[in-house]
This record gives sequence, C-alpha cells and structure tokens, in this order.
Amino acid sequence: MAASFIFGDPPIEVILRAHARARRFSLRVSQRTGVVSLSLPPWAPEQEAWRFVQAQEAWIRKAQAALPSAASCAVLGGTVLFRGRPYRLETAKVRSVALQDDCIVLPEGRQAPVRRLETFLKHSARLDLMAACTRHAARLGRPFGRVTLRDPVSRWGSCTAEGHLMFSWRLIMAPPKVLDYVAAHEVAHLAQMNHAPVFWAEVARLMPGYAEPRAWLRSHGHSLHQIQFSKLGPKHDAEN
Ligand SMILES: [Zn+2]
Repeated sequence: MAASFIFGDPPIEVILRAHARARRFSLRVSQRTGVVSLSLPPWAPEQEAWRFVQAQEAWIRKAQAALPSAASCAVLGGTVLFRGRPYRLETAKVRSVALQDDCIVLPEGRQAPVRRLETFLKHSARLDLMAACTRHAARLGRPFGRVTLRDPVSRWGSCTAEGHLMFSWRLIMAPPKVLDYVAAHEVAHLAQMNHAPVFWAEVARLMPGYAEPRAWLRSHGHSLHQIQFSKLGPKHDAEN
C-alpha cells in the first residue's frame, strides 16, 4: 500500500511512490483521474519530500483546476455516492472508515485514504449483496454458491451453471433498490438460466416493482463507472 501526504485546505492528498531508478522528486497530477503523486528515490528523506510537496501547493492546485473531468475522481473534500446518497470525503483520527452524518470519514495515516475508501465500498457492497442474495435465495428455495465481487464494465452481475454469483462492487454507490434488483436478477438465474418470460416472472415474484431500478441502471448505470478511485494514469501527465 502506498503512503501519502495530506495537507492544505481544501485538503490535497499526494501519493508517494518510491522508484529505485528515480534520481530526483517528480510531481504529477494525472490528467485522467486528478490523483497527485510524487515519485522519489527510495533513499530520499521523508521530511525533504514533505517540504518539496508543500512548496508545490500552488502548482498542484493550478493543475487540478485545469483538469477536464476532476468531478469524476474520488478526492478528499469531494463527494462520493454511497447507497444512492452523496457523502463528503474527509479524514480524521479514526481507527477505521466511519459514516458520520453526510460524511465518510477516512483514517489519517500512512496508507492512502482514498484507497481505504475503495476497500470500504467493496466491503459494504459484499455485506449488502450477501444480505440481498440470502433473502432472495430463501424465497426462491435454492442455495447459491460463491459470491465474487469484481469491477466489470459491461455487466452488473452474472450467475454460473454451478450457482456461483458475480457482482460489480460499484452497485454500492447506486440506490439500495438497484443493488437489490441486481441480486434478485442473478438469484432468479439459479432457477432459470435464460431471459425468457418465465425468468422475468421469477424476478417479479422475488422483487415486485423491479422495472424502476432496472430502468435506473439503464439510464444512470454508466455514471457509476466514471468514478475513479486509486488508479494512477501513466499517460499524458503534467510533470513539474
Ligand atoms: Zn440475466
């Protein structure tokens, strides 16, 4: 896990990346994600890196302000959707990620806060999806196998012939009904491995009113994929 610095108001998070071949400090703001990273030689004193980053605050803010799509990146001080509601991202001296009113509070520390956010979202997605699948499978009267979370671009879930289920963890950002619908859809495949009318009748039995969340996914689902978390874009970066 990468270490990071946080400073300034609104806060800027800088991910530190030690490179064996680095000869000097090199600061970058990713054009694609807005993530700020500092490459440094492994032997560089942390104090010196810290001073270097602070001296570049104006340059960082200017580079971030010039980004074409800064809103699509999860950054401290910005917001992220959680169970369909926007939450502001903040840091504090907490042991683990916590929900406080309309904030998601991330622990201060060496590990990059935004990476901890991604772990938190995946963990919450697993809890909600397991609860939904268990409920729907009990109603259906069939057991399910392994539940795997991934980040596929083209689908929200899948069900294998062996009864193993796969879901996109990004569903945790959607309204709860939407996550519930995708769980009902995949669980219904345990009985019907097709999309015939008999399958949709099963979905309707498990979740009456599924048409609304299904329509939400069709019109808004793509927006959940536009949010970047900890990926650092290597290309087209501005270098200081
Ligand atoms: Zn299906």
